[in-house]
Amino acid sequence: MHRTPPLLLNTDAIELWPAALLRARSSTDARLLAQAQWVLRRKHDGRYLAAVLPRGVHSLVTHLPREPGVDLALATLDTRRAALEAQWLPMAGLQARLAQLGLDAARYAADSGLRLEAEPALLHYAGRDRFHRPLWLRRPAAQAWRRLRLHAAREGIALDAISGYRSHAYQLGIFERKLARGLTVAQILTVNAAPGFSEHHGGHALDIGTPGDAPAEESFEGTPAFAWLQAHAGAHGFHLSYPRDNPHGIVYEPWHWCWKPAGG
Ligand SMILES: [Zn+2]
Repeated sequence: MHRTPPLLLNTDAIELWPAALLRARSSTDARLLAQAQWVLRRKHDGRYLAAVLPRGVHSLVTHLPREPGVDLALATLDTRRAALEAQWLPMAGLQARLAQLGLDAARYAADSGLRLEAEPALLHYAGRDRFHRPLWLRRPAAQAWRRLRLHAAREGIALDAISGYRSHAYQLGIFERKLARGLTVAQILTVNAAPGFSEHHGGHALDIGTPGDAPAEESFEGTPAFAWLQAHAGAHGFHLSYPRDNPHGIVYEPWHWCWKPAGG
């Protein structure tokens, strides 16, 4: 059977995943995933909505046509990949959700110096992260990460990814869960970037770790892996976004690196 390419097709409400990369959640899922090329996955809760098989679309929920964004998601399958590569998703939905949370996006941007990050319409498979989940990045960042990791390995340094691309819906979910636990938006913002303002949304940032060290902890600073990154990551286009005392008021994140085009 034709193997689907390792790409993630991204739309506002739904992601299209290569079926081969998804874990089955039931025996029905397993049978379908084995035959499917793509799976429509609802972004806000990860629910599998439909499988795209050679013979057509197989619904995995009772009222598929009522799911917001299904037509758009299916239409994306027919869009040329090169066109998707250049597209970013609209931000109207995010702006509305931020307003519902009582979060003034303009003021937050001014206070933090962070900017709204649109989601790319297309992401490339960049291997697996420490937790064996597929790691998604924009194409140049995915290629740079593979080269960086190989370069490090040749010099005896093991690097692994903790997390790459994350959707607006994922970050909104973090906020909603914390609000439900009684935290205020202001309290959450001391630890989490506002939804839409994380560099992870753009597909160029990733959190890097080394086996044996806790993920996304300041202790990473003391590892040989971090020393190696400081010396060599720049040559591969990766830069530390939040050094100590950064102007964004974000805690020091020695693990968070972002790829930028040369001269950009
Ligand atoms: Zn990060």
